[in-house]
Amino acid sequence: MKFSLIKKLSLSTSACFMTAGLILNSNLALAFGIAAKGTFKTYGQPVHETITQKAALDSGLLTSAQELEMKHLIEGVRFNDDPEAYLLEGARQDGGGVISFALEFLGSKKDKTDPTKASHFGDYQFLHAMGNSDMGAEEIKEKIILYVYHCWKMATEKDSLANFTKDYELVLQQEKSPSPDVKYTRDQIIVRRAVNLFPKEVLFFHSVTQAQFQYRALGSLLHVIQDSYAKGHVVRVGWESGANDGKVLYFQNYTEQDSNEHNHLDNHDHGKVNHQNVNDIPGAKIAYERSKQMLSMIVNQCPWTSGTLGNSPTCAQSVYNFLDKEIFAFDESTDWKSRGTRSHPDLIPKPVQPDPYGASGG
Ligand SMILES: [Zn+2]
Ligand SMILES: [Zn+2]
Repeated sequence: MKFSLIKKLSLSTSACFMTAGLILNSNLALAFGIAAKGTFKTYGQPVHETITQKAALDSGLLTSAQELEMKHLIEGVRFNDDPEAYLLEGARQDGGGVISFALEFLGSKKDKTDPTKASHFGDYQFLHAMGNSDMGAEEIKEKIILYVYHCWKMATEKDSLANFTKDYELVLQQEKSPSPDVKYTRDQIIVRRAVNLFPKEVLFFHSVTQAQFQYRALGSLLHVIQDSYAKGHVVRVGWESGANDGKVLYFQNYTEQDSNEHNHLDNHDHGKVNHQNVNDIPGAKIAYERSKQMLSMIVNQCPWTSGTLGNSPTCAQSVYNFLDKEIFAFDESTDWKSRGTRSHPDLIPKPVQPDPYGASGG
């Protein structure tokens, strides 16, 4: 989802059902005024947060007593909307906050190398299970699975923060003064790709402890899965009837969409989101079920590939298989052409009708 941050101020924030998709419009002045008075305390509708908390409890990953772990998990599910941690308390030297986050979207940094923008409008839309129109469905799926693999590894590997730090430093050193003897491992190749776009803090989910690192990585992983069932993000079998819980027909491109239409699909029509009514949002029920399944696999220590599946009697399949053959499986009755990345016609801005009375002509 793109994050509905400022909805009650009618600032159209377009983060997904799962993103803090922040498209600021003409009501900006109002938002600034109110925000400046410090009344701005919520993240809008906490859809991702609600689904994630419920799935973490129901899967047995966490108990309600594990407040700190839950906090880090929720910080992780917000990461995809806010990779530069404008909204993560204490993470930024400049203080961060909603205003800085909003400025980030409005500001002059329109280039693709900006992590916050790239995650919403650019090449890193896969953080929300979306993509640019020039990206094929297979390519987006590959990027998603690679990212999920990275998050999964960071979330499950003992000492992942220390190991990742080592990889990061080696890659950085190698990029600065390449030595012909160094051959990158698969993980280091992922690190190298990421280093080119994301600053260190982003790559590390702004973490300094192992617990922060692993739960934030896990939260970020869940965000991608949850978004993939949001109707503004992925068109699946069942899109028209509402549940959007079938196989993937095509990924959507946020850049082409009407952000109000997108937000409408990402959010609850009325009232405060809670563990019960969150399921009224199209796609949210299956997003919860998939999140719970994923976390159960983490609890059962299911392997990434099927090679060592025999050692895990509680696991019916590998994590990779679950992603490849279930969550991100394409509908077999469609071919690659019909899977072209685009937006559903309902989400594309309608052309403005010419004024029949010629109001502008006097
Ligand atoms: Zn969204
Ligand atoms: Zn999202």
